[in-house]
Amino acid sequence: MKINNKSIDGNRKVLLNYIRENEPVSRTDVWNNTALSKPTVTRIVDELIKSDILLETGEAGTDNTTVGRKPILLKVNPKAFYCIGLDITRTLIKGSLLDINRNIIARKEESVRYIKEEKELLDNVKTVIEKLISQSGLDEDKILGIGIGVPCTVDYKTGILMDFNINKEPRQINLKEYLEEIFKLPVYIDNNANISVLGEYWYGYGKGYRNIIYIMCNQGVGSGIIVEENILRGKNSVAGEIGHQKIEQDGRLCTCGKKGCLEAYCGTEAIETEVEDELVRGTKSIITDYIGEDYDQITFELINKCASNNDKLCSNVLDKAEKTLGLGVSNIINILNPDMVILSGEFFRYRDNITDRIELYAKDQLFNLVGEDTLFVHRQDADIVDGVSAGTLVYKDIF
Ligand SMILES: [Zn+2]
Repeated sequence: MKINNKSIDGNRKVLLNYIRENEPVSRTDVWNNTALSKPTVTRIVDELIKSDILLETGEAGTDNTTVGRKPILLKVNPKAFYCIGLDITRTLIKGSLLDINRNIIARKEESVRYIKEEKELLDNVKTVIEKLISQSGLDEDKILGIGIGVPCTVDYKTGILMDFNINKEPRQINLKEYLEEIFKLPVYIDNNANISVLGEYWYGYGKGYRNIIYIMCNQGVGSGIIVEENILRGKNSVAGEIGHQKIEQDGRLCTCGKKGCLEAYCGTEAIETEVEDELVRGTKSIITDYIGEDYDQITFELINKCASNNDKLCSNVLDKAEKTLGLGVSNIINILNPDMVILSGEFFRYRDNITDRIELYAKDQLFNLVGEDTLFVHRQDADIVDGVSAGTLVYKDIF
């Protein structure tokens, strides 16, 4: 029989999970350590060996002096199952096809920076997945599902993107339904901050901690929050939208349509807009040496470059954004009292010691008893995730 995501249920799931987590193990280990009976273990193991999902790996022990028959050990065939993980950012779709040990088998990237329509986004996502499958040369039956991280709010149950930003407009997009219809595979979608904080909790900085806040500051500002070892989702799966906390009444207009949100001060696009506004007002800056009057060419990276060359306008704008972000972070710490705050995103990429300053600004605002011992770390290389954490959404659900 062909084993796919639908047939890994009940006893098969128990058995596979036990073997996967403890391999290599003998049949005796399995029935001693699970609730499965001896005949059930024997039957399922035979079936899974025939389907190439389990491998027999020789004998227990390498000691030749041991007398008597040694049990044959079992392990999950690393080539038995695969999943696809996509990391959709505001500028790129990064996709990986992973084996069960999270090794990357194929990798693909597509730009979404200049897309203007929902259809273009869907087409690009579809193309990345198709290319991953064809590049890997795998039989589609072996792919268990698709896990996707997105830079917007997601209704976790329906997989609907609630406010994906296209052409500066928040759109509602049913990505899960679209992909499941095309690929006939289960699709799991979560906010990429949630996926990142899970990744950190499982195998990153957050290992061993129970309360973690993962802050992403890019074009948008968001967070993934783990409270007492569980993702904080809230009633409508929208908890953690720290970018939309208000830090000024009737303040700057945010992409969400409201005013005074943190993101409208610290999001990289908001910072670009602020520099542009200042130039329009007549403030001088060396940034015009690079772009002339073509203000569409202003990028966050260029602003940082000018700031590092002592440009007053760019430095002021960035300094202010850092202080504002510190304020936003202190609000979260005051409310949640986490073990650890992880800072990540383009915001932290260019300036020296920036995370130290954010820590300082945040701790300066804390209520007395809270958070002096909160750890701050900088996730510099979030890019290595490349859909790997997203892919684990699939295995997490199936196993
Ligand atoms: Zn907002």
